[in-house]
Amino acid sequence: MSDSQLLTTPPTTAVELFCLQCDYNLQGLTTTICPECGQPFDPVELQKIFAGQLQPIIPWEDSVDPTRTHYWTTVVAVLADPKHFANIFPARHDAGSAWSYSIYCYLLSAIALYISMIFMANGDDILKMFIIVGIGLSVGVILTETFISMMLAALLRPTYVPQKGAYHFWRGLVHFNSIFFTISTTILSMFFILMSITNHLEKLFAAWMFAVGIVLYIVWWIYLATMIAVRR
Ligand SMILES: [Zn+2]
Repeated sequence: MSDSQLLTTPPTTAVELFCLQCDYNLQGLTTTICPECGQPFDPVELQKIFAGQLQPIIPWEDSVDPTRTHYWTTVVAVLADPKHFANIFPARHDAGSAWSYSIYCYLLSAIALYISMIFMANGDDILKMFIIVGIGLSVGVILTETFISMMLAALLRPTYVPQKGAYHFWRGLVHFNSIFFTISTTILSMFFILMSITNHLEKLFAAWMFAVGIVLYIVWWIYLATMIAVRR
């Protein structure tokens, strides 16, 4: 069966299909255009979404072998073209897989912070600092990402996503911005190390840290806003 035949086949499945734009019930229609709002739809894709079938997060999940993930390829894909990444982000994906990407980012951040603390602290303080800073930052960033996703789900309906899947979709997409936490903690860690090995740059360091922190914060929001704009 060719693609065009697939597209013209009316939805004939036990799964109820709804328009992803206006929630109109598309069951039993012989066309592939929503009669309520005019949105074209692909019955085969809709069946996958409403049956809850998981689709791979590309390029994080390997399209051939689902057990394989590609961390650095995904980092580059998100940073180089956030619009494309958001555009192809699946309505139904494995939430655990999206979490595992964030966890990689948090672990790299923890390693960077720990290395800087070895330079900064002496002896017994390292573990205490690591626990306080590590737990504080991790809880902070996880709560922030969850809160942003809840706000988005309440305010914005993602395109090509059923209404009840809005939080799942936004939470998944927000996970892939965790890389900014890694970049900012790595840069801050480098400055911590720099400060610990020289005594002359403290004021300059403080100004730099502030500037870099603000810039990265703004960049994070620009990336997130870019991704959201593509799917709102
Ligand atoms: Zn519609």
